[in-house]
Amino acid sequence: MVEHVRVAFGTGIVLGLWRGQLAVPPTTAHLLTYHEGRCNANCQFCPQARGSTADPRMLSRVVWPCCDFERVLSAFEEKKGEFVRICIQTVNYEGVVDDVCELATQIKDKCGAPISVSCQPLAADDIKRLAEVGVDRVGIALDAATPELFDRLKGKSVGSSYTWEGHIRALGDVSETFRGKVSTHLIVGLGESEKEMAQAIQLLHDRGITIGLFAFTPIPGTPLANRPQPDVTSYRRIQLARYLIVKGISEAKRTKFEGGKIVDFGASREELCAAVNSGEPFRTSGCLGCNRPFYNESPRGPIYNYPRKPTSKEIAVIRDQLL
Ligand code: SF4
Repeated sequence: MVEHVRVAFGTGIVLGLWRGQLAVPPTTAHLLTYHEGRCNANCQFCPQARGSTADPRMLSRVVWPCCDFERVLSAFEEKKGEFVRICIQTVNYEGVVDDVCELATQIKDKCGAPISVSCQPLAADDIKRLAEVGVDRVGIALDAATPELFDRLKGKSVGSSYTWEGHIRALGDVSETFRGKVSTHLIVGLGESEKEMAQAIQLLHDRGITIGLFAFTPIPGTPLANRPQPDVTSYRRIQLARYLIVKGISEAKRTKFEGGKIVDFGASREELCAAVNSGEPFRTSGCLGCNRPFYNESPRGPIYNYPRKPTSKEIAVIRDQLL
């Protein structure tokens, strides 16, 4: 039986579990399964990883305090309508699917918002169980844009059973039950080139997978703690490339690269200006309704994923960066 759950700090403020300032409120409530100890996996950028010595309350740069589940359920009932989506993130441990099914069932009873589950590759039976308890979308984070990076940062090289092929296959397996409702995460800044990232985006888009872009965020206590965050202008090019690919305006094979860097997006100037001026490409991407405010950056900036529509002043800065 689930007694505790971790709640992302911003989500907890909206739920009234604690007080705090919100520059932009989360539109999706983010929860993390609670588990004594660390994850079975060992992703080198993750504070929850088996080999990490980071603060166990952390996921990315966000604190997720452990809460009494009953109290969280009452808060969801009281704050019904505050969120357009609930996202249950998982740590990999024995029995985690049981916990997720219980969390999803009870939360659904209290607030009815669609539920996303972001988890590790699952067995066919477990996928079916998530569908049976009414989960709306499933996400399996690929994180790394190439098989080599995947292996080096979250695969065999770090003592984990995860493989790039295994994750790609798992995304396909989940798509059979959650057709058109499958997401993944890609982290920009793990050592891939813009070309490799654009090709990974195309590969996943061609499989009907929704892509949530993240900017690498160094966390103290993880092996990548001293790695810098990605260059913002490079991140903007990737955001624009993802948008053009997902909207069917361009493709990775029509995008031109020099030294692995995007130099031509394979779209007309009119299409580029329309996309940039809309600001949409630079907003948080992923499941519908997921804005993940300041998951990868401080509100003081620089902002990688805008959790709201960028202002015209911000778009002017982005235009100068890109064009
Ligand atoms: S995109 Fe957002 S809501 Fe969807 S699985 Fe990822 S974190 Fe959760």
